[in-house]
Amino acid sequence: MKGKTHIIGGLAISGLLLYCNKTYHWDLPITSFDYITASVLGSLLPDIDHKKSFLGSIVHLPIKHRTLTHSLLFLFITSIIVLQFNLSIALGLFIGISSHLILDMLPLRSKGICLFYPSKKRYSFFRIPR
Ligand SMILES: [Zn+2]
Repeated sequence: MKGKTHIIGGLAISGLLLYCNKTYHWDLPITSFDYITASVLGSLLPDIDHKKSFLGSIVHLPIKHRTLTHSLLFLFITSIIVLQFNLSIALGLFIGISSHLILDMLPLRSKGICLFYPSKKRYSFFRIPR
């Protein structure tokens, strides 16, 4: 999936949460700029394992594509580490990475992602056998 699609997905889900936070008075202590910026970054972050991705072309992690960085392990560890410093950024990263994982599991021809890495089993929503 393309970076632009991931950004749109991250913005849509983070915007929905921001809307609900204000409309339903959830009172989550999130500042809009930090939260939205982190959700955009989070929506791109898992593809640092792919050289041709936007972030991967800047900082490349030389591991197999759609394994560690596309797992719940990566999602929670990244969010928990950042949570020690800033709730808005941690929540934005969590939403952005989550949206990335969901979108990468959607395409009909997707090979899926290693959601429960280090297990190598790949998961996708609608897998069509080849
Ligand atoms: Zn990806």
